[in-house]
Amino acid sequence: MIPRGFWNVHRGGKWYQIHRTTGRISSPGDTSTYLTLRRLLDGDEQLSKATPIPFPCPLQRNLDYVYTLDLDSAYLTVSFWHREEGDDEAMELPEPVCMRRLNLDSIHEASDLNYEALLQNGSSPLLDIYAGEDSLQAGKEYEHWETELGQPSSLNELQYRMFMDFVYQWRFFIDDHITWQHPSSALFRRLCYAFLRLAAWDFEISSESEVAKLPLGAEEFPGWDSPPTEIYWFHRNLVVLCEDFGTSSSISDAVSRARTFVGHLEGRGNELRCIFISLADIAFVQIAADKVQCSTVFPLLTNSSTTECSAGFRILTYFLASPYIKEGERDFAAREVFSIALPTEVLEMALNAVAPYDIVSFAQASFMAENWYYASLPQLPDMVIHDFDVSIACCGERTNSEGKEGVCCSDCYAWRHLGCLHPSERTPEKCYICSKCRLSREKAGARPKLIPGAIERANRHGARPDGCRPDGCRVMIRKQEKFLQLRISALRLHLTSMPPNQIDYVVLFSGSWSGLAYGLDDV
Ligand SMILES: [Zn+2]
Ligand SMILES: [Zn+2]
Repeated sequence: MIPRGFWNVHRGGKWYQIHRTTGRISSPGDTSTYLTLRRLLDGDEQLSKATPIPFPCPLQRNLDYVYTLDLDSAYLTVSFWHREEGDDEAMELPEPVCMRRLNLDSIHEASDLNYEALLQNGSSPLLDIYAGEDSLQAGKEYEHWETELGQPSSLNELQYRMFMDFVYQWRFFIDDHITWQHPSSALFRRLCYAFLRLAAWDFEISSESEVAKLPLGAEEFPGWDSPPTEIYWFHRNLVVLCEDFGTSSSISDAVSRARTFVGHLEGRGNELRCIFISLADIAFVQIAADKVQCSTVFPLLTNSSTTECSAGFRILTYFLASPYIKEGERDFAAREVFSIALPTEVLEMALNAVAPYDIVSFAQASFMAENWYYASLPQLPDMVIHDFDVSIACCGERTNSEGKEGVCCSDCYAWRHLGCLHPSERTPEKCYICSKCRLSREKAGARPKLIPGAIERANRHGARPDGCRPDGCRVMIRKQEKFLQLRISALRLHLTSMPPNQIDYVVLFSGSWSGLAYGLDDV
C-alpha cells in the first residue's frame, strides 16, 4: 500500500497545505520525510506552491499520515492511526487517531521520526484535552431557566437530520479538538456559526450540484464565513463563544461579557436573550436589568452526534426556529400593522419568489412573514415530510394538532406522545427521563465527555457495511414518495450498474457549500 497524506505548514501566522495530486506521502521514519522537513525548515520555496488553508486539516480515515509543521512554534506533530497498548475499546473498532509532537530542535536525523522514536519521545497533545475539567457548572447563582419543547415540526425533523449529517460530513474536523480548542480559532467560529445557521434555517438551498464536491476529500475544509468576533448578534439573540463551561465562573464571565457588549439594560424594557456556545456545550441565558436566568448547560456535540441529535441542538432549534416561542416579542408583533389584509397565500407566493439568498432577510423583515417562514418548509415548498423518526422518538408520527399531549425527556430532550408512553412512565411529576437515558445514566453515571476521535469511531461502530448513512427521510414530493438522502459520494459504491447519485439539493451558507448535499431516491 502506498501511504497517503499531506503536510500542514504554519509560517508567519498563516497555514498552508502541501498535498501531492496523487496524495502520496512518505512514512515518518523515511529519509525523504526528513529531507522534506529540512527543505521546509531551510527555505520557503515549497510554500509558494502550497495551498493556503484557514487552519490545519485533520487526518482522515482514507489517509495514513498528516504532518503538521508549526514553524512559528517550532514543533512537528505527526498524526497517524495507532492502537495504544491497553486500549480497552472494542478491538473490532478501527484504530484511533494518535498524535505525537516533537520540538524541532530534537529532530536531528531521519530515525528521530520513526514510529518507535515518535511513540517514545513525542508528547501527546491530545492528553491535554483528555485532562480537561469533567464536570459542568451551570450558573448556579442565577435563577434556573426552564425549557420545555413543543411538538417538533417538519422543519425540526429536517434540521435534526441536517445536524447529524453535518457532524458526519465534517467528523474529522470536529474530532480534531486541537484545531478548535479556543474560540479564537477560525474552525471553532465556523462550526459554531454553522450550527446556529442550521438551527435558524438560515441558509440557501440550491439545486446546482456542481457546488458539491463529493466525497469530501482531504483538501476540503469548512470554507464558509463566520463573524470575526467572539460575541455577535444572531437572529435577535446575542451569541457568546466560550472556551468551556468547566469552571464555576464560566457562565458569570460570559454574562459580564454580554453585559459589557450591550451596555446598560435599564429602560430597554426588553430582556437580552443570549446563547453561550463552547461547541461541546451550550447554555441559554436571559439577562434583564434586575435579574439573570440561566438554563442547564446542555451538550451540543456528543460522541454519538452522527446518529443522534443532541439535546443542545434540539433546544437551539426551538429557540431559533419555532413560530410559537417568541412570547417576549408578542408586544412588538402586535405593533405590526398592514394597511391591507394580507392573505397567507400572498405571503407564501412572495416567499417562494424571493431569491434563495434573500429569503431569510425577507422573513426577518416582518413578524408575520417570520412566523410563516418557520411554520412551513421554506425553500422546499413542494415537500411534505412523512417520517418523524428523529424528532418524535416514540412512533415517528406527527399528530396534526399543535396540542401539548407530549413530553420531553429531561436528559436528551427527545419528544414523545404521552399516549405512546408505557403507563408506568406517565408520571404526573414534571421530570420525565426516557428509558434510554435512564439506562445510560445507570451505566455511565455522569454525562460522557466529548473525546477526540470518538465521533468517527462511534459512527463506524453503528455504520452499515457499505459506509452509507442510515436511511433517509421519507418525503412526498409532487405526489411521489421518495427518500431524501444525504449524498456522501457522487457514485454508488456497490451498485455500479445504477446511475450516479443525483444531487437535488445543496445547502449553502451565504454562497459557500456547507458540506450537505441531498438527493431524492425512489422508495
Ligand atoms: Zn408517538
Ligand atoms: Zn432521553
